[in-house]
This record gives sequence, structure tokens and C-alpha cells, in this order.
Amino acid sequence: MTKGRIFGTTIHSTREESIEAESNDMSTTKIFTDGSGFEGGAGAAAVIYQNGSPTPTSSLKYHLGKLKDHSTYEGEAVGLILAAWLIRLYCKNKIGTEGISIYTDCQSVIDSVYDMKPGPSQYLLNEFHALIASFTNLGNNPSKFTINWISVHSQVNGNEQVDKEAKEAAQGISTPKIFLPPLLQCPLPTGKSALLQQAKETRTVKWRALWETSPRNKRMKKIDKDFPYTKFGKLTNKLMRKQTSILIQMRTGHLPLNDYLYKRKLAQLPNCNACLGGHKETLEHLLKECIAYKEQRKNLRKVLRERSLADFSTMLSDPKRARLIVKFVEGTKHWTNGYMRNPDQQI
Ligand SMILES: [Zn+2]
Repeated sequence: MTKGRIFGTTIHSTREESIEAESNDMSTTKIFTDGSGFEGGAGAAAVIYQNGSPTPTSSLKYHLGKLKDHSTYEGEAVGLILAAWLIRLYCKNKIGTEGISIYTDCQSVIDSVYDMKPGPSQYLLNEFHALIASFTNLGNNPSKFTINWISVHSQVNGNEQVDKEAKEAAQGISTPKIFLPPLLQCPLPTGKSALLQQAKETRTVKWRALWETSPRNKRMKKIDKDFPYTKFGKLTNKLMRKQTSILIQMRTGHLPLNDYLYKRKLAQLPNCNACLGGHKETLEHLLKECIAYKEQRKNLRKVLRERSLADFSTMLSDPKRARLIVKFVEGTKHWTNGYMRNPDQQI
């Protein structure tokens, strides 16, 4: 589909369609652009081909900086700025009279540069528009000036070339400043997404330093060495609220079993009421021994066979194993609606 004002945009639904459209494109000028995140750096490049020649007329490349400061998406936007600069240098007043096609493998940058909705790297896309603004009085024709999507790894000569040059740019190589558009003659400010990421990392470092010296840290390590539960979301996203509650009680060592309750004077005896065999109702008894839960234990057996209860904390950190254990405990009906049962209740 082609749409547009001073320029049109074309996005195809398949890789093959994009390659075929490029080979049928008879435009006098084709410019391939790319943004690259490679070996810790961010780079951008644009390569111009004219009059069907397989040899580039020229190319520009720009090293944005480190990937921690700039995204690949910013590289894609800079690629468009380089393309606009090449058009000014090599097409002059041919805009709208001879076909000019820009190619990029980034669909989102095509959408953003056309719609110009507020978003990341907006100032870079504004610069692209500013550079092409002077073309508007030259009889512009959106069908003759297009920005097109082409699939990555398309084996199209221009696309492969720009991919190579953008990687070089990511590694620190830029075209001499004097040949670059004014905006790119100075270092670019750190991208918004990179700044947010850096702020998050700084917060995490500060929090870790505070946590390391906190007296609660020592206590928590005895209970659960995996705290602060970085995988907790993944672990619980398939659990019901009640099941999550059971999991937390197990991980923090606060299962309302008789042995635990007895020590806190909340049960008359520490013994298991389910088998009445005189055993203390501990976690180990519940999971491994109690004959009252023979049936429920079948699903759990393969988990317990592989690891001892000494590794219980590790097992509860593994989503699949944790879910099995929680379901087993739930099946023992020790809990109703996620709350502690009556300690003396008979099962
Ligand atoms: Zn028992």
C-alpha cells in the first residue's frame, strides 16, 4: 500500500513481496538505509545508487555512540537523515520528476516518520522532515519519492551493502564531519529510552547497597535465598491468587502446619491430624511421608525423586516444580480461601 504527501510509504506483508517490489522499482535513485546495534555500539548508514548502476554513487555513515546510550531505533532514524542529506547532495532539483526510493528494513520508523506522532527519537525524525522540506516547491510527487520497507537479509545488493556499513558505523567509524548533515556534526544527546534504563539501573544499584547492609537481609537469606524474587512474576502468572498465597507461605517458612503453629502456641499439639500416626506435621512430613496424601503425592513424586528437601527453595524458584508443589499442598485441603485453617480441624 502506498500513501503519503511529499513522500509515499510502502510496506509489504511478506519478505518475498518486498524483494520483488525492489527489483521492479525503476527509480533513477535508490537509497538504502540501516541502523545497527553491533558489538556494543550503535551506528547508521545510507548508501545511494543511481541510474541502475550496481556500484554506489556514495555513502554516509555515522557512529551514534554506545548501545547503552542509543538504541538501534535511533540508528534507523539517523539512517533516514543520512538519506535526506544524500538526496540534497546528489538529486538536487530532480525531486518529483525522477523516481527516488529510500529503503529501510524498519517498519516502525516508516510509520513514525509518516504519521509524526510523538514518540522516541522524535527530534531525529523532525530533522529528516526539515531536510526534505525544501523539496516541497519542486513539483513533489509522492509516487516518485517513496520510503519503502525491505526485508532484512533480503540478499538485495544495496541492502547488504548498507548493513555492512552500518555495522562499521556501530564499531565507531563515521564519515568525516564536514560531509555530514549539521545535526550529526556534534554528538547526539543520550536517547530517552537509554536514560530511563540508566535511571532504573542506578536505582537498582542504590537499592542493592541499602539491602546488603539491612538487618532484614540476613534474616531473609535464612528463609529464602532467592529473595527479592526476580522471577516471581513468571513463577506466579499461572497461579490463582489462593495458590500464590500458599507459595508465599511456603517460601517464607510460614506454612500453618501444626508443628509451626504449636511453636507459636496456636495449636494444642504439633502432630499431624491427617494420618494420626503420631508424626509431627512438618513440611517434610506433608510432602514426603504422610500416608493420608498418598494419592495427591503421585503427581509430586517425580519432582521429589530428583531433589531432596534441602533444595526446596530452589524447587520453589522453578515455575514448573513450584506449580506442582503448590497444587499438591492445595490438594491436601489444609487451606480454605487462602487463609489458615483452624489448627485443630480434622481433615
Ligand atoms: Zn500425617
